[in-house]
Amino acid sequence: MAEHTQITTPRELPRVDRMLEDSAIGNLIEDHGRAPVTTAIRRALEWARQQLREGPIASSDLHQQVALEVEILLGSGLRPVINGTGVLLHTNLGRAPISNHALRRATTLGQGFCNLEFDLEDGNRGVRGGAVQPLLETLTGAEAALCVNNNAAAVLLSLAAIGGKGEVIVSRGELVEIGGSYRMPDVMRLSGVRLCEIGTTNRTRVEDFATAIGPDTQAVLRVHRGNFHIEGFVQSPDLADVCTAAHKEDIPVLVDLGHGCVQNLSLPEGDGLPSTVQGCLKAGADVVLFSGDKLLGGPQCGIAVGRADLIESMRKHAYYRTVRVGKLTIAALEAVLRDHIAGRIENIPALAALSLASEVLQIRAQALVETYAQQYPDSGVKLAPTPCESEVGGGSDARYQIDSYGITVQHDTHSAHVISTILRRATPSVVGRVENDKVVLDLRTIQEAELEDLRQVLAQIDNGP
Ligand SMILES: *Cc1c(COP(=O)(O)O)cnc(C)c1O
Repeated sequence: MAEHTQITTPRELPRVDRMLEDSAIGNLIEDHGRAPVTTAIRRALEWARQQLREGPIASSDLHQQVALEVEILLGSGLRPVINGTGVLLHTNLGRAPISNHALRRATTLGQGFCNLEFDLEDGNRGVRGGAVQPLLETLTGAEAALCVNNNAAAVLLSLAAIGGKGEVIVSRGELVEIGGSYRMPDVMRLSGVRLCEIGTTNRTRVEDFATAIGPDTQAVLRVHRGNFHIEGFVQSPDLADVCTAAHKEDIPVLVDLGHGCVQNLSLPEGDGLPSTVQGCLKAGADVVLFSGDKLLGGPQCGIAVGRADLIESMRKHAYYRTVRVGKLTIAALEAVLRDHIAGRIENIPALAALSLASEVLQIRAQALVETYAQQYPDSGVKLAPTPCESEVGGGSDARYQIDSYGITVQHDTHSAHVISTILRRATPSVVGRVENDKVVLDLRTIQEAELEDLRQVLAQIDNGP
């Protein structure tokens, strides 16, 4: 293929087998082996199809992209993982996948300079990521918004800025540990506020909040119990009632909602907190704090929305400077927020995956098993479609499981443990779960574009560890 050839439509893209015969690609195969280079070509062609929506590309760009994909696949840094765990917002696997167009926005803006903190009208210093705030306000109906590095930072900053050196009231039932040493009592102490615990592990009433409010009280904090569920003799007061009691004494109510659901996903309720950011604001919350990479489906960040004076005090606090977000995050977040506002949920990969009917996944599972058998008739790998349950993860709700479909993977000679090891160490890596001594791969968390790579990795099980 001539280096200077222009490609203008997807139909002009070379096929995978043609590219494998190319001499430049031959060198890559010699160095790294055929399997990873084939995967890299597929990924580069997918990249090219995306690029072609914007304009023509040179065939040399395509070749460079193949080399880059090989480097990403085999390098010692971050590598792609096919997530067969069924846990959609898997913190260890990077939470929400981000849409191509949101990433393209980050790429384009990141390549050059941008008005990150610059007012193009008057040439003066502007507000960092000035466009994100109005988008968040439109989406949630809040008066004001602020974006920081992650939700842990948003919670810490809100406590420091709003709680000051005073007292913040929190129910003993909500003094949670999120994981990664994020324990609410420690975060509160770290922020400088005094923790005023009320109620008991299983029951807290609105009167507990009302009677705890004293001269030193600066705020009430409610925390969503996302990663566990308590049942039996339990009681949590409605957010609206707590807000009424607190507001009577002029005390603001902060809600750490964690998952940051902004769409109606019918998450189970029951800890007294509405299941959406908008619901919490409507119930009277003065500030709601949540992650950008959970059910919002965007890049890692933490978001605070609510009363303008409180958000402003967060922005002015010295901690803000240590937890602010960068331009790549803001660029991608803007695109995701626009999709939410326009109701283009299908553009947000995490939400699109959540809304897939299990019947669709069942058809994909059957097709995967059949295609594999045709492609690798002599393989000792035994695949079978199986119903399974996906989890949302990301602190959305421990009880929230969705009917799904996947495949079981077994082998003539290898145990489930050996199969998982082979899959994990393959290129690209595949992570599943082991149930009843079988490896299960849930197709809800595996994107359609990954299925071809998945079949190729499954065939490698025959080669052993
Ligand atoms: C996930 C979560 C956090 C931490 O958010 P990060 O974005 O990971 O920092 C805090 N609180 C709750 C309730 C959460 O679910």
